[in-house]
Parts: sequence; structure tokens; C-alpha cells
Amino acid sequence: MPAVLGFEGSANKIGVGVVRDGTVLANPRRTYVTAPGTGFLPGDTARHHRAVILDLLQEALTEAGLTSQDIDCIAYTKGPGMGAPLASVAVVARTVAQLWNKPLLGVNHCIGHIEMGRLVTGAMNPTVLYVSGGNTQVISYSEHRYRIFGETIDIAVGNCLDRFARVLKISNDPSPGYNIEQMAKRGNKLVELPYTVKGMDVSFSGILSFIEDAAQRMLATGECTPEDLCFSLQETVFAMLVEITERAMAHCGSNEALIVGGVGCNTRLQEMMAAMCQERGARLFATDERFCIDNGAMIAQAGWEMFQAGHRTPLTESGITQRYRTDEVEVTWRD
Ligand code: MG
Repeated sequence: MPAVLGFEGSANKIGVGVVRDGTVLANPRRTYVTAPGTGFLPGDTARHHRAVILDLLQEALTEAGLTSQDIDCIAYTKGPGMGAPLASVAVVARTVAQLWNKPLLGVNHCIGHIEMGRLVTGAMNPTVLYVSGGNTQVISYSEHRYRIFGETIDIAVGNCLDRFARVLKISNDPSPGYNIEQMAKRGNKLVELPYTVKGMDVSFSGILSFIEDAAQRMLATGECTPEDLCFSLQETVFAMLVEITERAMAHCGSNEALIVGGVGCNTRLQEMMAAMCQERGARLFATDERFCIDNGAMIAQAGWEMFQAGHRTPLTESGITQRYRTDEVEVTWRD
């Protein structure tokens, strides 16, 4: 029964998780939260992660009731993500692996999300919508690859929401997206925004520019409220995501959809996806914030699958990479 320790720190969350044969034994996490109106910069974020990572490691082991001897493999996020945070966390993973004399595994962050979603929900072969601050992809598994059917051609949907939150000076605690979601519930006027689906791909940067502009104009004249803009932004970008997910499901003849990534815990997105799935006679799977927001257990779980399939990352190849596409990894652990 191998136990795998996973380190995640590719953006503003730092997490250490322990997974043993499909059971999450521990999954503590901290978030680097910056002042309203600001985002998180790579250097500051890395400093935050370095300050808390050893406490988190101890916390994870204690919570799991394990010692270093019980750990069979150290998994860490190889990429994609921000360079400085990724590098800081990888240094700790490499050091721990050498101190404890354990094998090391570099994990693709996106695949961590997918494997965690599959584990928690029990979805067998879902069409995956991966939506977060850094990523927006529609993915379907075929012949040992997680293949990308559609994706953003510029910024991620979560980045669009986060940056609009900065315009409105919405709090980043617990996350800008969560606070937009709460404000959107109180909006009732739908402001028309660009709808930019291009084949199977989507684009969000033009929508962001448009709504930044609209916010200046319409809030000054009282034409609409900040809540109306949050509501309109969510309705528009989520409709785009539902559309490309549905098209991928139709193409693959899929009857399961799985939402992963930090934006995946938005209940309005889940509701819109569920309505689409119901009309198709398909099932929607989603997880809550513990597992859809970046966490250590998702890296441990993908690591566990890779470890069982015989993967190992030699020390000489245990670097990080800011760009690492989901379809670059050969998925040897699935049929
Ligand atoms: Mg992520």
C-alpha cells in the first residue's frame, strides 16, 4: 500500500498532501492573499511558500499519522505555473527525497487536477472542463493521452474574473472569484458583453477590456451596479465554457462531465453545466473547494498513479517548467 507525499505550489496556494491507495490522509494548504486591487507577484508568492512549507509538511505527516519512513515516494508539481513558486517548492521536494532516500516524481499540475477529480467523484471517463486562474481547457482521454479539445487562446477564465475583481477593488480573501460569485447572486440586470467562442476555443481578454471600460462608464452614471456586472460576467463566460464542453461531449459520445480547477467550485458554473448535462442525459461530477482548488493531495494522487505504473523522475531531470501542456504526458496508468 504505497503512500505518496505531494507538494503543490504553482500559484498562490501552497499545499502538502498524503494519499495512500485512494485515500486522502492529509491535505493542509495555505493561500497567499494580497490587498484588494492587487494580484500576486512571483517573487512575493515564492517567499510566502518558502516561509510556510516546512510547517505544512509537518502538519501533513502529523495529520496522516505517518512518519518519513512510511512515505514511499515524493511527488511535486513540475509545471505549468509561475517560475519562482514552482522552483521554491521543487527545491524542498528534491531535498526531502534525498534526505529520506525516496524516489521523486515530477507531476503535471493539470493531470493532478484530473486524477483528483476522478478519485473524489468516481467519474470513469469524463469529458473534463479544467478552469482556474491560470488554465482553461476542455480535455478528453484517448489512447494514453489527456487530449485538449478546446482551450483559451489568451488568458484563463479565472484570470479574467480575478482581474475584474481588482478593478472593483473586491477582496482577495478567501479568493476574488468566491467574492464575485457572492456579488453576482445579488445582480439582476444582464449587461451585454462580447461572447467569444472560436470553434472549440474561447477568448477572454477582449471581454475583460470591454467590461473594464463598461464599469467606468456605467457605474459612474448609475446604469448598473457592481453586482450586475459580476452577474453579467459570470453568465457570459460560463455560457461559453458550457458551449465548448457540450461540443466536446457530443464529439466523443461522452455521458460524463467533470469540472476541475479553482473556478470549478463556483456553484453557478456547476448549475449551468448540470442543466446542459441533464438535457443530454449525461451526468455532471464536481468537487468542493478542498479538492478543486490547488492542493497537495492532487499531486500525491497523480504521483500515486505514476508511481504504481513505474514512473520515476531522476534527480538530473527534476527541474520545473512554466509551460507544460496536459497532452505532453503519456498516461501509462490508464487503458
Ligand atoms: Mg490549478
